[in-house]
Amino acid sequence: MPVSAEMLALNLYVGLASPLIGSGIAAATARMVDRQAWGQGWGLAPSSCPACGRRLGALEMIPVLSWVAQRGRCRGCSGPISLHYPLVELAAVVVAVWAAVTVPPHVYIATCVLGWLLVALSAVDIRTRRLPDGLNLVLAATGLGAAAVLDGTRMADHVLGAVAGFGSLVAIEIAYRRLRGRDGIGRGDAKLLGGTGAWTGIQGLAPCIFVAALSGIVLVLTIAATNRRPVSSDTVISFGPFLAAGGWLTWLYGPLVS
Ligand SMILES: [Zn+2]
Repeated sequence: MPVSAEMLALNLYVGLASPLIGSGIAAATARMVDRQAWGQGWGLAPSSCPACGRRLGALEMIPVLSWVAQRGRCRGCSGPISLHYPLVELAAVVVAVWAAVTVPPHVYIATCVLGWLLVALSAVDIRTRRLPDGLNLVLAATGLGAAAVLDGTRMADHVLGAVAGFGSLVAIEIAYRRLRGRDGIGRGDAKLLGGTGAWTGIQGLAPCIFVAALSGIVLVLTIAATNRRPVSSDTVISFGPFLAAGGWLTWLYGPLVS
C-alpha cells in the first residue's frame, strides 16, 4: 500500500495525542471500575479530586507527569490519587511508541486502536476480574472493521477467528466446570479471545493462547516464589491481561495483515 504524506501526518497526530487518549482511557476505565460505567460521565480526564471533589487545574491534568510531580496526592487535601491513572496513561503511550517502531504506516492507527482497547480491558480486569461486554464488543467490531479495510480478501479468516476464539474458550469453560464442579475461566475471557480473533484471524488464535498461557504460568510461579506461598487450584488471577498480551504480540509479530 502506498504511503502518503497525509497518512504519515495523521499517524504523527495520533501518536502525539496518545498521552491525552491515555488520560481518556484512564478516566473511562476508572469509572467502569467504580460501576458508574456505561452511559454516564464520560469525561476525558480526572477533572476533580476523587477524595475532596476539588476541581483540578490544567497543570494537574498533565498525563503521568502531574501524578509523579504531586507524588500521587491531591494538592488540595493530600488524598491519594490512584496509580490507575499514570499506569494506564503510560501504557497508552507505550502502545503508540511500540506500534510506531513495529508496524508499517498504513496499519499504525488500527494497531493503536487495538492496543488501547486491550489496555482498557486489562485495566478493568485487573481491578475487578470482569471484562465489560461493551468493550469486548467494540474490540470485535473494530477487529472486523480493520480486517475489512486492511485484509478484505481474507475476511472469512477474521470472522472464523472471532467465532472460534469465543467458542474454544466456552468449550474449555464448560469442560472445566463439568470436571471440577466450579468456574475456571470466565465468559468474559471467551469474548476477549473472540475479539482478538477478529483482529488476528483464525491463524492467530493458537499463538495468542500460547503466549497467554505461558505468561500466565510464569506470573503464577513468580508470585508463588516471592510470596513463599504454594500455588493451589484456588490461586486466582485475571486471565484477561494475558490474553491481551497474546493478542497484542500476535498482531505485531504473528500473522500481521499485509
Ligand atoms: Zn483532594
